[in-house]
Amino acid sequence: MCYNLVLKTQDSRLITMLLNKSEYLFKQAQQFIPGGVNSPARAFKSVGGIPVFFKKAKGSIITDEDGNQFIDYVGSWGPMILGHAFPAVVKAVQDASFNSTSFGAPTELEIKMAELVQQMVPNVERVRMVNSGTEACMSAIRVARGYTGKEKIIKFEGNYHGHADSFLIQAGSGALTLGKPSSPGVTKGTAKDTLNADYNDLDSVEKLLKKNKGKVAAIILEPVVGNMGCIPPLPGFLEGLRKLCDEHEAVLIFDEVMTGFRLARGGAQERFDVWADLVTFGKIIGGGLPVGAFGGKKEIMDVIAPVGPVYQAGTLSGNPLAMSAGLAQLSTLENHPEYYVELEEKSDYLAKGLQHVLNQHGIDYHMNREGSMISIFFTKDKVTGFKTANTTDQQFFRLFFHEMLKRGIYLPPSPFESWFLATTLTTAMLDKTLEAAEDALPIAKSLYKK
Ligand SMILES: *Cc1c(COP(=O)(O)O)cnc(C)c1O
Repeated sequence: MCYNLVLKTQDSRLITMLLNKSEYLFKQAQQFIPGGVNSPARAFKSVGGIPVFFKKAKGSIITDEDGNQFIDYVGSWGPMILGHAFPAVVKAVQDASFNSTSFGAPTELEIKMAELVQQMVPNVERVRMVNSGTEACMSAIRVARGYTGKEKIIKFEGNYHGHADSFLIQAGSGALTLGKPSSPGVTKGTAKDTLNADYNDLDSVEKLLKKNKGKVAAIILEPVVGNMGCIPPLPGFLEGLRKLCDEHEAVLIFDEVMTGFRLARGGAQERFDVWADLVTFGKIIGGGLPVGAFGGKKEIMDVIAPVGPVYQAGTLSGNPLAMSAGLAQLSTLENHPEYYVELEEKSDYLAKGLQHVLNQHGIDYHMNREGSMISIFFTKDKVTGFKTANTTDQQFFRLFFHEMLKRGIYLPPSPFESWFLATTLTTAMLDKTLEAAEDALPIAKSLYKK
């Protein structure tokens, strides 16, 4: 489908542009929405070009506004572990909506959800629902501060915990002293309470704890990082953090917004058998509706109002549509342990196939995979943290991304995001992806400018 867009040039001539629908919609969107998007990762800034506007999806096939179909490896950045428009989720939302879309009062659905979360993640003795992963992480550190009476938090460079002020702090050169805001709008006052350590580097954490003795309320991390590409913890790293938190009486917070209910029914905690004090959730827990949650030890969670003095609230928290969608998705995962086995097998098949193709074409790469999260870094280095992730060749990724897109494969539009696989991917789809990579890699190589 083609759209004529009539534009006025600077010297007042009228010109007509022939656009496809995504291009047309992106121009329209930019007139009303900053950058044309409601979240920056969608704008294709890392890969260039025009973001694809989507119309519908089923399983692992997504259809854009021009009617093009793609095999989806983004899965809405994680939630679509059972594929798009999973029948039980769709039905749950439909059924719930007839009984009102919100009460702002307690419902039985919220108990069912909390019970199921505890069943799947046993150390979540108390859980509270919120509306996004950002809210979950923001609230978890408030609770940790309220519980310990301490103010500072330690996070890791390149880990993402949503866009609350405390998390938008970069290490900079003074990594071991004061944090520096990495976004205008974040005050120095906030930045000074956020300390940055290096992921997979226990020494960097120990130094910060020693330097700030008695002041660190919590250590928060992605137990498997997804937000600088997929980076698993090195052996002993999570165990080491658990020990350090116990020694320094700091709350260990696992941000399982990506990994929760994905790496196992009990998330990264179950997969690595290291158990945090507080855990945050998002993405999968809402079945594609806006849901986040945080929970953990009763003793810690009981500092929250109305039991305790730490304030935390939400008009739409525990919303009936969101709870219904989340319950349908989580109970499906709970009742089908074989889905995790299948996801593991499919991810392994894809990863091995990709490695074979990459090797054949003599590409420098490092692949990380943990369960159904995969990243290819175009670098010779082993990628274990922020610095090594940044050695990835972004130009090569851009070229590869667009060649894959042309061949009907929708990858995350950034070299620093993980691919998320879904149960609905078939062997035929995985093979089609491998064939696309087979074609795309030599072309990307030939277009690459040294
Ligand atoms: C996506 C994400 C968040 C933020 O969740 P939103 O729902 O986007 O606010 C927090 N932590 C991690 C690890 C995430 O991947």
